[in-house]
Amino acid sequence: MQNGTHLALTCERTGPTTTDTANPPEYEARIDPTRWPDDSLTVANLGHSTLLMNYFGVRIIADPVFSDKIGVALGRWLTLGPRRRMAVPLEPSRIGPLSTVLITHAHLDHLDLPSLRRLPAKAVAVVCHGGADLVKSLGFTDVRELKWGESTAIDGLRVTAFGARHWGRRFPWGKDRGYNSYVLEKDGTRALLACDSAYTSMFLELAPLKLRLAAFSVGGYNPWIDHHANPEEVWAMFQDSGAEYLLPIHWGTFKLSKEPLGEPLRRLADAAGAQRSRIVAAEIGKPWRLPDTQVVSAYWRDSFSDRRAAESAD
Ligand SMILES: [Zn+2]
Ligand SMILES: [Zn+2]
Repeated sequence: MQNGTHLALTCERTGPTTTDTANPPEYEARIDPTRWPDDSLTVANLGHSTLLMNYFGVRIIADPVFSDKIGVALGRWLTLGPRRRMAVPLEPSRIGPLSTVLITHAHLDHLDLPSLRRLPAKAVAVVCHGGADLVKSLGFTDVRELKWGESTAIDGLRVTAFGARHWGRRFPWGKDRGYNSYVLEKDGTRALLACDSAYTSMFLELAPLKLRLAAFSVGGYNPWIDHHANPEEVWAMFQDSGAEYLLPIHWGTFKLSKEPLGEPLRRLADAAGAQRSRIVAAEIGKPWRLPDTQVVSAYWRDSFSDRRAAESAD
């Protein structure tokens, strides 16, 4: 396992498609989450916004999507919606024990009922206020709704809901089911799982937390810029958050918008410039482990102060 990224490789890569079943991708050989250590944070992007983590002994999956298609199901076999462009790197049967399922919001590309059905229903599910009924209908018994600012604890992991600039209806005609970012904390290590979000300065509030990792959605902005930040805006929000490492999600798996699949990571790397080594887990299906030592960089503290000053001057 390596820290750091392989952006050049990732940006050009379209990945195997699910039609490549005769040649299964090499992913299976290199992901074995049951062997990830319990005394650190290991995370892998399983495609789109699905993150699998061992967070200091707490096994978490966020926004699990394993389906070949996401969208509106018409009966059991037909789904209207975008098709997966990159094979699932790890099937649910190989995930191993799981204690927590985090759902950032009920959009079809984040709360996928067929995928949730394939996970152990004894896991604690954390959802937004107004989203529990969907998950309970699948047999999950411990479903915890959080509003922004509320917290819950699971096996020593504290999960606190935070904001974003997005929207929460599953369908345009349905009820508002909310949208949450989550701050995770265990053994003194904090990380952010940001909800899909347009640019907002609200992540500045998190800078005092000294987040070690922040996951932000980097794709889906053209033409949906009112609800999804573009890569340059993501880099700015990441800097606002004060986090040490950026984990880009929401790219390369389903084509939900007009930008080419590889564009978000290319632009993100350009936005990061000389600091692109802070972009991690940027290869779908490849685990990344948080380094033990925190890098306290003066420049992002200064950057934070500059932004704060600019905000108060407005
Ligand atoms: Zn969304
Ligand atoms: Zn989304």
